[in-house]
Amino acid sequence: MKAVEITYKKNNKEKLSYDEIKYMVNSYVKNKISDSTMSEFLWAIYYNGLSIEETYYLTDVMIKSGETIDLSHIDKKVVDKHSTGGVGDKITLIVSPIVACAGVCVPKMSGRSLGLTGGTVDKLESIEGYKLKISKEDFIKELKTVGCAVISQSDKIAVADKKIYALRDEIGAVDSIPLIASSIMSKKIASGSDIIIIDLKVGAGAFMKNIKDATLLAKTMVKIGKYYNKKVICTLSDMNTPLGRNIGNSLEVKEVIDFFNGKHDKRLYELAVYISSLMISTARGISQRKAKQIVVNLIESGHARNKFREWIKYQGGDLKNLKDRAKKYIVMSQENGYVNKVDSLKLAKLVYDLGAGRHKKTDKIDYAVGVILNKTIGSKVTKGEILGVVFYNKKVKDFEERFVDAFTIEKKKRPVKKIILKTVK
Ligand code: URA
Repeated sequence: MKAVEITYKKNNKEKLSYDEIKYMVNSYVKNKISDSTMSEFLWAIYYNGLSIEETYYLTDVMIKSGETIDLSHIDKKVVDKHSTGGVGDKITLIVSPIVACAGVCVPKMSGRSLGLTGGTVDKLESIEGYKLKISKEDFIKELKTVGCAVISQSDKIAVADKKIYALRDEIGAVDSIPLIASSIMSKKIASGSDIIIIDLKVGAGAFMKNIKDATLLAKTMVKIGKYYNKKVICTLSDMNTPLGRNIGNSLEVKEVIDFFNGKHDKRLYELAVYISSLMISTARGISQRKAKQIVVNLIESGHARNKFREWIKYQGGDLKNLKDRAKKYIVMSQENGYVNKVDSLKLAKLVYDLGAGRHKKTDKIDYAVGVILNKTIGSKVTKGEILGVVFYNKKVKDFEERFVDAFTIEKKKRPVKKIILKTVK
């Protein structure tokens, strides 16, 4: 086989066989083809797409390029949850203990995100002492005793995806539906859960900018799950507005602590309850209405809070000791009116410039910096009231103007768009 011939075939919109895709992926992993040859192949996919069979072939080859985890000896239902990444997205930290409390096991391997704001791993790293790397045996033990565990993605899972994703990121070929679907699903299938719930973010601060593309991605991932007899459900949720009030790693952990202490942002609460209910209802085979009652009870009774503390402590974390040393700058509103838009992309870029995100996987980040939104979409605001707070350790030019510029304040209140847009099963 020859790489150029396979790429040529894809450029001619012909279907590739399992062996051809395997040849490209495995040769790249073994350094037998160069970055530029692989880039040509990825561009051919980017522009010509892949059929569902080809997407499955790519997923399968990437799964087999690394280890797989066997969770079949856990005697509870096991549900994985994945988010495609959003601004202020701390949902994993909230739903994992809630679902574990309801008797469903949540094993989470999370990534260190590239891009504007931190990933779940970065948020957890802002808790002093929290151990993200534990052995497979300890991971299983924690799942059996606590019911949930969140660790960093093992380097041994979907090895090919790691290398290919880094190249896609470098050449700007990330936003291709078959490439995203196979990348996410290879890691999820290799991680061993029977049920996979995906929170697919849609809007300005997300990969998927519109519902049409997001639906296509969701359908592709559901179909790939079927090849492996896995139940995959995708929730499309709005990412035009940041999720919750805090953006930045330790600030998001603080918002999770507040959440379990009964202080929650309405949209964050709605999505967290929805995703937890979906995970529980799918695993336990009960209606989503019944699952929602269970979730609300677990939050209100304090059981979910206790589980959250138990899990963090089990992994060595001290919630009283967060990496949160930063200076504060309070931003006042200069206008009267209603907040009709909070631009998540503008805020994510500001938080990134403050130091909360990374460009390369090896970049150091500042866990303490970020923003808190005292006002958010739908809020009434008067001149001189606090709009929000910026936490910084280095000065960023025009940061106050940039923060204010993310808010659209108008005299007339506009209806607030729903957070949950659609569910694809
Ligand atoms: N997340 C992934 O894991 N892979 C992609 O390609 C995009 C988002």
